[in-house]
Amino acid sequence: MKMEEQPDKAPREDVCPSKRKGLDPETARARIAETKGPEYWRSLEELAGSTEFQDMMHREFPKGASEWLDSVSRRGFMKLMGASLAMAGMTACTKQPLEPIVPYVKQPEELIPGRPMFYATAFTLGGYATPLLVESHLYRPTKIEGNDQHPASLGGTDIFAQASILGMYDPDRSQTIAYLGDVRTWGAFLGALRGPLNAQKAVQGAGIRILTRTVSSPTLADQLRSVLKVYPQAKWHVYEPVNRDNVMEGAKLAFGQSVETQYKLENADVILSLDADFLYAGFPGSIRYTRDFAKRRNPDSGNMSRLYVVESTPSSTGAKADCRLPLRARDVGNFAHVVAAGCGISSGARPTFTEKEQDYLQAVVKDLNAHRGSSVVIAGDHQPPEVHAIAQAINTTLGNVGKTVFYTDSVNANPINQTESLKELVADMRAGKVDMLFIMGGNPAYDAPADLGFSDALKNTNIPTRVHLGLYQDETAELCQWHVNEAHYLEAWGDSRAYDGTVSIAQPLIAPLYSGRSPYELVAMLAGQPEASGHDLVQGYWKKQHSGADFDTFWRKSLHDGWIEGTTFTAKDVSTKVANWGPVSAAADSKSIEINFRRDPSVYDGQFSNNGWLQELPKPMSKITWDNPVLIGPAMAERMGLKTEDLINLELNGKNVTAPVWIQAGHPDNSVTVFLGYGRKRAGRAGTGAGFDMYQLRYSATPWFTAGVNITKAGGTYKLASTQGYQTMDTPEGARPQVRSANLEEYRKEPGFAKEDETPAALTLYKPYPYEKEPYAWGMAIDMNSCVGCNNCIVACQSENNIAVVGKEQVVLGRHMHWLRVDAYYQGDRDNPKAYFQPVPCMQCENAPCEVVCPVGATVHSSEGLNDMTYNRCVGTRYCSNNCPYKVRRFNFLLFQDWETPQYKMMRNPDVTVRSRGVMEKCTYCVQRITQHRIDSEREDRKIQDGELQTACQQSCPANAITFGNINDPNSQVSKLKANARNYSLLGDLNTRPRTTYLAEIRNPNPELES
Ligand code: SF4
Repeated sequence: MKMEEQPDKAPREDVCPSKRKGLDPETARARIAETKGPEYWRSLEELAGSTEFQDMMHREFPKGASEWLDSVSRRGFMKLMGASLAMAGMTACTKQPLEPIVPYVKQPEELIPGRPMFYATAFTLGGYATPLLVESHLYRPTKIEGNDQHPASLGGTDIFAQASILGMYDPDRSQTIAYLGDVRTWGAFLGALRGPLNAQKAVQGAGIRILTRTVSSPTLADQLRSVLKVYPQAKWHVYEPVNRDNVMEGAKLAFGQSVETQYKLENADVILSLDADFLYAGFPGSIRYTRDFAKRRNPDSGNMSRLYVVESTPSSTGAKADCRLPLRARDVGNFAHVVAAGCGISSGARPTFTEKEQDYLQAVVKDLNAHRGSSVVIAGDHQPPEVHAIAQAINTTLGNVGKTVFYTDSVNANPINQTESLKELVADMRAGKVDMLFIMGGNPAYDAPADLGFSDALKNTNIPTRVHLGLYQDETAELCQWHVNEAHYLEAWGDSRAYDGTVSIAQPLIAPLYSGRSPYELVAMLAGQPEASGHDLVQGYWKKQHSGADFDTFWRKSLHDGWIEGTTFTAKDVSTKVANWGPVSAAADSKSIEINFRRDPSVYDGQFSNNGWLQELPKPMSKITWDNPVLIGPAMAERMGLKTEDLINLELNGKNVTAPVWIQAGHPDNSVTVFLGYGRKRAGRAGTGAGFDMYQLRYSATPWFTAGVNITKAGGTYKLASTQGYQTMDTPEGARPQVRSANLEEYRKEPGFAKEDETPAALTLYKPYPYEKEPYAWGMAIDMNSCVGCNNCIVACQSENNIAVVGKEQVVLGRHMHWLRVDAYYQGDRDNPKAYFQPVPCMQCENAPCEVVCPVGATVHSSEGLNDMTYNRCVGTRYCSNNCPYKVRRFNFLLFQDWETPQYKMMRNPDVTVRSRGVMEKCTYCVQRITQHRIDSEREDRKIQDGELQTACQQSCPANAITFGNINDPNSQVSKLKANARNYSLLGDLNTRPRTTYLAEIRNPNPELES
């Protein structure tokens, strides 16, 4: 998917926003200095008021967007979409073949075609379970929802759980057992392993090594321990690249034992994040934390919390900060030392900070001390153990333990230091001690620390039996003789713990598409039960735990509810052990450039590289898709004469990676950030070749950050697909006030500040339709105070509404198809701006500008106020899109949908049309859900109750930021929010009368810092 510039190609006119030449830093600075600029801005180009940005205001789609691509781009598109789709896309004809519909001979009693069923299960990432309810149509899972009864979800999900359904249907998944690339059967696999396993019995398994990812499954942990009893000399190693070694080592430093730390943010008046992105997917408990955090952000409640974020790279959590301080990762420890001293903990450290940083520190210390027992300090997983220990000590000293902070047993069933564990394994491999290596999931040949040389050891140490269990024939599978295709979690039985310890049973929604095996079944084979089923293994374990006569009732209840009662961890009483946390960072290296390694906001550690929904999901702060450029702060870029998209060379420990630059407002100076998970060689059609492999630079001693990276210009540029400058609602005449925000004090003085400039509703040439006489008038309110920019609503919308992935080249051309986007705005100083998230779906305007320009009446209004689309009428003039001030309409320039791949046919929501090429599509408030509830309520002779009907975006939102309902009902939640003083219409001055409105954002900064 790489798109280096093609020097031999005739340059196309650079009209597309992303194709424009980036503004060089000096010009940008000069322009920023001479212009006042907009109050809220989306890119540095906009802030500087560049002519390139001004040009962009004139058209939504780039000139030439309706033309076919050049041959290179077309090949990329075909590769992504699959050969069958691309051939369909090349023709004008999209008529579907006739298919027979065969009725059931004997229809299952509970199955009603057209009525979905929901099953409780759980998605596990990094060992932590996200409890889910999965929608199933005719026994095909089609949509992921959170389990609203489970305390770790409360109905919310995260992007990885939402998108996991696409992973199950991925046609690139490994589909067979293979030996040296040739297809084999399970029986052949068992036969081949029988002899070597028998031989191991004689030496008590001294040559057996099992490498797993983090295991929180009680059943699997029990199985693995049983295997270690059969083979007492065998070893169980654990490794995953995004691990919690720092957290566990920090707990050992503080308490002498591995404990899990949980936070109760609904009790916190003051929160200090030490480089912790706790509001974004991947942080254990982030779904629940987001809900609890959002609850305390209501400015009318009288107890709005205050969030301080000290961070080394701009994040969603930093964007929500009331007071944010950009700091290099290696300075965060120093900061923590000073805070500890300010809270009365003698650390002996004397770090120095700038005057501005000192002010910030003093304000934080004062606020924390003023909120003893109602504050919390959260350290980020990539900060070293000392910082975690300091955070625990501060929480203890401030009396927060038992109120906002709780300690429990570890969720991880084998809480060892994972990096050390992998090191030990590699040493054994090199020493010739390993005869049989079982890699159960994970991809260490790709993501192990570079200095360990894992893939070299795997390839060259002649381990007689190497077995890989995985969803893909990936980089590790390539180096193993045996590859066993893994069953996806939606196809297999299992169990795992949520962040609070509660065990969820993962039940399959469908029989394995490719007869895959689960880790439970592979471990059972090692224990001498080669034909044991996943169901029997999991149920068998819980039978041992719950041996009463009521087991069936217990089991059915656990499956139904989605968790096992009584498994939630209770709080542990632990006391702080020592307060000697080691030295602060040496001042001598203060000038050397720091490099931060972070899990990618979209593809995580690389395990989701082949998930097109996640690849195309704009990253929260940069809106980059399909890539992982090097993030550099504006000041540093200026010093080095770098522009966005310039190629640079990163040199660290004698290794080099060349990658493009992205200038990121708010990034700390003298520091760069790279995201892991890209540069895959064997990911699948979507993931292979996308981005740059940063694992090559990552060493075991410095997994998250280190100083001393050498950066040089590599020459040339590289095209990035960021949607940040797209679908802008500004005009050439100037910025429009899309975002409205105020400080708490300002809001209290002038609660209606957000409503200024709105045109009176009566000002219209058209005779108003009497919506108030209809039983329902649908409307939505989005609370910007609650929205944390997690992107979950985008993926949920994509899944619910069968929205296509288009690929990087198409995103570059502005052709991405998301019906809902989350705009990121910045405000103020480019080196430390405030940031705001604004989700923008179709506004369902009562005076819809799109409808009056459609020559064929394809977009019309319903009596309930929906701006409907009739796809069959649409002839693709795109006048509607042109006339939409919100830029929320998406045009199928090509046949983006894959109409041929059987797996994708099974995945789609049967209640939603799959759109062909040449039509305009957009959000309609999930009209299919409205229709279903209308049918149900009419059958029961009642009205749709407030709250029973949720749009997909609303249902998935962990922050409860989206409220949908009947605005004709004055008691509905949405009506109450629309009556709130903060409620305002986006571009309300145009008198479009949008049914979707926003609640302005209120921040609660420390007045001492504001002055
Ligand atoms: S509105 Fe969307 S981006 Fe905002 S918190 Fe909810 S799901 Fe996340």
